[in-house]
Amino acid sequence: MINQSYWIDTKPKFTNGSAELKDSYYDVAIIGGGLTGLSAAYTLAKQGASVALFEADQIMEHASGQNGGQCSTGVAQDFASLAGSIGLDKAKRYYTAYANAVNSLRTIIQEENIDCELRESGKLKLAAKPQHAERIYKTYELIKKEVDTEVEFLNAGELKTEIASEQFYGGMVQKNAFQIHVGKLGVGIADRAVKYGAHLYEHTQVTGIKNNGSQFSIETQKGKITAKDVIAASGISQYGPLGWFRRRMVPVGSFIVVTEKISPELIEKLMPHKRSYVTSRIIGNYFRVMGDDRLLFGGRARFAMSDPKSDAVSGEILTKAMGDMFPDLKGVQASHCWGGLVDITPNRLPRAGQHNGMFYAMGYSGHGVQMSAYMGQQLAKMIAGNIDANPWREESWHAIPAYTGKPWFLPMVGAYYKLQDYLH
Ligand SMILES: Cc1cc2nc3c(=O)[nH]c(=O)nc-3n(C[C@H](O)[C@H](O)[C@H](O)COP(=O)(O)OP(=O)(O)OC[C@H]3O[C@@H](n4cnc5c(N)ncnc54)[C@H](O)[C@@H]3O)c2cc1C
Repeated sequence: MINQSYWIDTKPKFTNGSAELKDSYYDVAIIGGGLTGLSAAYTLAKQGASVALFEADQIMEHASGQNGGQCSTGVAQDFASLAGSIGLDKAKRYYTAYANAVNSLRTIIQEENIDCELRESGKLKLAAKPQHAERIYKTYELIKKEVDTEVEFLNAGELKTEIASEQFYGGMVQKNAFQIHVGKLGVGIADRAVKYGAHLYEHTQVTGIKNNGSQFSIETQKGKITAKDVIAASGISQYGPLGWFRRRMVPVGSFIVVTEKISPELIEKLMPHKRSYVTSRIIGNYFRVMGDDRLLFGGRARFAMSDPKSDAVSGEILTKAMGDMFPDLKGVQASHCWGGLVDITPNRLPRAGQHNGMFYAMGYSGHGVQMSAYMGQQLAKMIAGNIDANPWREESWHAIPAYTGKPWFLPMVGAYYKLQDYLH
């Protein structure tokens, strides 16, 4: 078994990076070579800006290259609960932001002709308990009435045409969702950014940022540059002078196994519509069929950080959960197993704006393939002075009390959520 992301293992090699610093001044310096940073570099360079992107490791090596490859509409949390807590109007705007994000990523892929195995799939949220089906039905009614007329509800009987598992009691289909090979997507966007003139520096950690008033000094492992604007697209960064962000998000491990190839007949029996699936538990699962007839099966598995040992333990938990959900898959081996860190904010809504003059977008809370690629484009508009381009401008962002970036409380949070899943 390969202990690495399937997407990173099978993506084309990115060969258009710059080795040594090419210029000492740029219009925009971008910290981070995940989908937020790459999409910002692509958008800004296409508009004619001079752009330097600095990535501490390789592009797409962290969350952007480690996810489930599910690009779906809708907010990360239950829409009805979100509307209850922040108000219906705002919840509708946020739902629409996700729809815009899905649509805009689809447009980039089509316009730039990026070969990333795009497959229109829809997303099916599965009720893991009868009371979850009731809750999902209420949410479905609200979404259909207020914001997305294409949404569908399936009762337990109707669900049998969708999925061959006895574990579910109903579900909701959101049609505006597609699947991609995120490794191919990321390299495709990076290549287009370079084509439009951006300089992408891999293995170049940003170690210092200073706002001098009219411009920024940026220190990197390869030397210093100055830039008029800076974007922090650094996700749940573990490195460098980004402590202000680290104190506002919690890194939580999410883990994935990809199976060996399965017969097309068995896939047709288990999940004929090959949707993006997500279950309703807090410590739930997400899964999808891959282009080459493997199953990707992921989940939080445990509330833990990701490291090789932790990933392997989680992989075993996930393989068992997959077999329990689909008895036909008992004994099917995993070909790949990995984990990554999700950048969770206290209310699981993204954050974007300016800190100390530096633009940022992050905190996608596990629902960020579409939003990261979208926010890269929106950041370009924000730099041009269009503050309304930021869908998250009304979200305040306070440091988490008694927290410096090391999540000592994860086991307790995990135990609490496990109990909630058991009780409700
Ligand atoms: C296991 C897993 C499964 C997921 N599944 C899904 C899914 O199916 N659907 C979905 O919508 N979302 C999913 N997500 C979330 C999604 O992948 C992320 O929200 C998104 O990729 C974040 O992109 P990003 O560019 O903001 O951050 P990242 O991809 O983390 O990129 C940030 C980059 O910044 C670099 N960096 C940090 N500090 C510095 C520094 N000082 N100098 C230079 N570089 C630096 C890092 O090395 C990193 O490469 C998942 C996430 C994980 C981990």
